[in-house]
Amino acid sequence: RVRFAPSPTGYPHVGNIRTALFNWLFARHYGGSFIVRIEDTDITRKVEGAVEATLDSLRWLGLDWDEGPEVGGKYKPYVQSQRLDIYREFAQRLISQGNAYYCYCSPQRLEEMRSEQVRRKLPPGYDRHCRYLRQEEKEAKGIIPVVRFKTPLNGQTEFTDLIRGKVVFENNTIDDFVLLKSDGYPTYHLANVVDDHLMKISHVLRAEEWLSSTPRHLLLYQALGFEPPQFAHLPMLLGADRAKLSKRHGAVSITEYRDQGYLPEAMMNFLALLGWSLDDKTEILSRQELIDNFSLERISRTAAIFNQDKLSWMNGVYIRSLSQEDFTQRVIPFLERDLPSEVKRPLSTSYLNQIMPLIQERARTLAEVAELTQFFFVDELDYDAALLLGKNMSYKSTIQALEVTQQRLEQLNIFDAESMEAVVRPLAGELGLKTGQLFGTLRVAVTGRTAAPPLFQTMAVLGKE
Ligand code: GLU
Repeated sequence: RVRFAPSPTGYPHVGNIRTALFNWLFARHYGGSFIVRIEDTDITRKVEGAVEATLDSLRWLGLDWDEGPEVGGKYKPYVQSQRLDIYREFAQRLISQGNAYYCYCSPQRLEEMRSEQVRRKLPPGYDRHCRYLRQEEKEAKGIIPVVRFKTPLNGQTEFTDLIRGKVVFENNTIDDFVLLKSDGYPTYHLANVVDDHLMKISHVLRAEEWLSSTPRHLLLYQALGFEPPQFAHLPMLLGADRAKLSKRHGAVSITEYRDQGYLPEAMMNFLALLGWSLDDKTEILSRQELIDNFSLERISRTAAIFNQDKLSWMNGVYIRSLSQEDFTQRVIPFLERDLPSEVKRPLSTSYLNQIMPLIQERARTLAEVAELTQFFFVDELDYDAALLLGKNMSYKSTIQALEVTQQRLEQLNIFDAESMEAVVRPLAGELGLKTGQLFGTLRVAVTGRTAAPPLFQTMAVLGKE
């Protein structure tokens, strides 16, 4: 039983969804359960729309979850802000057991304490002021208290990470962290531990940045008398320059990749290889192959490098492997979205069926297709006429080439690619041009672009008119 537990503090990025994918693959491989839990207890950092974007990303990739509150025959994720009473009860229990205490320190006092620590070059953390006061001594100031954990002052907390092996933390490096905030919301630590226990999570697969939280969690499990789950901390994601992955490296939110026309199956394949591999060489793996082969043993300890070029390449591979019909169906929404408004909708299916075979080989994203094929749809091409002049071609020779070609083509009755090529190819010599020069000029005249699908097939689809 595993869970993906996003905090809605931003739109889900590659790293977040990689975590979701690894959990999902682990569950599917072993026939376990995959749970989604929204960890929204930090109301100050909540971002509007982040939950929906996260769930959309999961749905887009087909990462389905197995339980949760049921609405209309579908499972909603668990949401921590709807479970506040539960966490308060456990905080209360820790207080009455003597494992936690109320802290009435004012924000000013904590601020002064921090500056003092910086000044004296001491490690940061709460100085345990309220831990040693009697209740009557604390309550004077009309401050709503927080609840803090009574961290053991010495000893060690250790565990065996399923990826990293044995990890040991000195308890005296952990401060008395907050469990319940003065707004009544639990902190991540409390809510996460309580829910992982109540939801019977067997394995916690999460990003490496949470490793340093794990000893706190283990101390909480111990204090509550719960058996902890097993932990596996996934390797970091870095950009090609080995800096922490960010937008600068081309990584954007998963929903943006969807909107740019990446295929979900390519994205899934790409994400799976960020820290996991089958055999260090296989790149293309289907959903089923990933499920069949996924294992924690093949997750690396070293950071994974995000490579945008590899994603584009992989997307092209997946695009080329689609049936033509499937490709066309997937492209249509992008064309509808991106073609100029003067182009009539709905687009003609039979026309699309002629165009798409010319484009499928060349497209690296679905969104790119609108730009690549725009000239098929608009009546007037808008381009720089200078593009018509091929290398070493004069104004005069260009005009002549276009005029002569037009005359010859007009005489054709059958306007298919072979007939046109049979007429135009020999023309180059007649006009004293290289084939490339003539074809280049024609390509621009017909498409408004210097790079386009095969010339004569394109002209055949456009038609004589
Ligand atoms: N809410 C945490 C996050 O945003 C979850 C970390 C965990 O899986 O324990 O990543």
